[in-house]
Amino acid sequence: MQADILIVDDNPNNLFALENLLAAPGLNIIKAQSGNEALAKTLSHEFAIALLDVQMPEMDGFETAALMRGNSRTRSIPIIFVTANRTEREHVFRGYDAGAVDYLSKPLDAGVLKSKVNVFLELYHQRLELEEKTRELDAKIAEMERLQTLLQERNEQLRVLSRTDRLTGIFNRLSFDETLDYEWRRCARTGKALTLIMADIDHFKAYNDCLGHIAGDHCLKQVAWALSAALMRHVDTIARYGGEEFAAVLPETDESGAIAVVTRMRNAVKALSIAHPASATEKHVTISLGVAAIVPNTETPPMRLIEMADAAMYQAKSQGRDRHALFSQLF
Ligand code: GH3
Ligand code: MG
Ligand code: MG
Repeated sequence: MQADILIVDDNPNNLFALENLLAAPGLNIIKAQSGNEALAKTLSHEFAIALLDVQMPEMDGFETAALMRGNSRTRSIPIIFVTANRTEREHVFRGYDAGAVDYLSKPLDAGVLKSKVNVFLELYHQRLELEEKTRELDAKIAEMERLQTLLQERNEQLRVLSRTDRLTGIFNRLSFDETLDYEWRRCARTGKALTLIMADIDHFKAYNDCLGHIAGDHCLKQVAWALSAALMRHVDTIARYGGEEFAAVLPETDESGAIAVVTRMRNAVKALSIAHPASATEKHVTISLGVAAIVPNTETPPMRLIEMADAAMYQAKSQGRDRHALFSQLF
């Protein structure tokens, strides 16, 4: 690895001698004959070390070092002062942080010079390596954070998808089961009634047989959205239970409270005015609904409410379709 080293001395002969002493493979020696020239060189180089002669005219080594320390770009360059006497040395340790600073006495001893420079060079290379590792680590952390966010987004998309009916876009059976289970337990705790509405399209097999499955699918979508729109409270949910059947869960609602909802649902489907040429009931698509309410308890399975709403729905069918029936009035 290449390292730039700055040597500063007002005397060209000293500079030349220093250069010869330091010359080593991998070392790029940059010379400056004054503090100003040294500062100018720091603009175009990242120095591993600076060797500063203390005694220089105009700007001495300490002033040069002070200016280097005042600049964030050059602050961390280790400085070795080349001092002539002890007074200068004490000045050095008063003014600068230990560790980033060392000194060498004139006349220079080649062995001492080289070993000191080598210590700083080693530190410099270690620092570069550490910086590189830190950058790599930062990049890895950033990438991991990005992947984690992506994963969370994908999981959320999957969660939504796994609970959405592909054809109609409303909740699917899985979501319905979860909602019923959750509301069942919640209402069991609060002692409030839970209502289930089952809605089934009348003569839908005949609709498909007469107009085809594409038209059938389109009809299912329209009915699904009309039924959704008929729910007013945000805790009420509607799902496609299967085929042409839909199930609405109304928490904290009793049977009488649900009558307004079923009436809205039936009217909303009627208002779609989807022509049904093969219906024995009406000229357009209609639905039959079954309503059942219960104050749940944890001993009874939620399935009980489905059976009740189903029974009511079949009652509505047998009574002529295009209507609703209440489970409480079956017997
Ligand atoms: P009822 O009035 O007694 O409810 O009679 P129905 O014909 O509606 O009931 P049945 O259960 O006999 O038939 C339901 C039909 O719903 C059968 C099937 O062709 C249709 N169906 C179920 N799922 C889909 C679907 O995803 N797309 C389409 N186009 N049709 C479906
Ligand atoms: Mg059916
Ligand atoms: Mg049907």
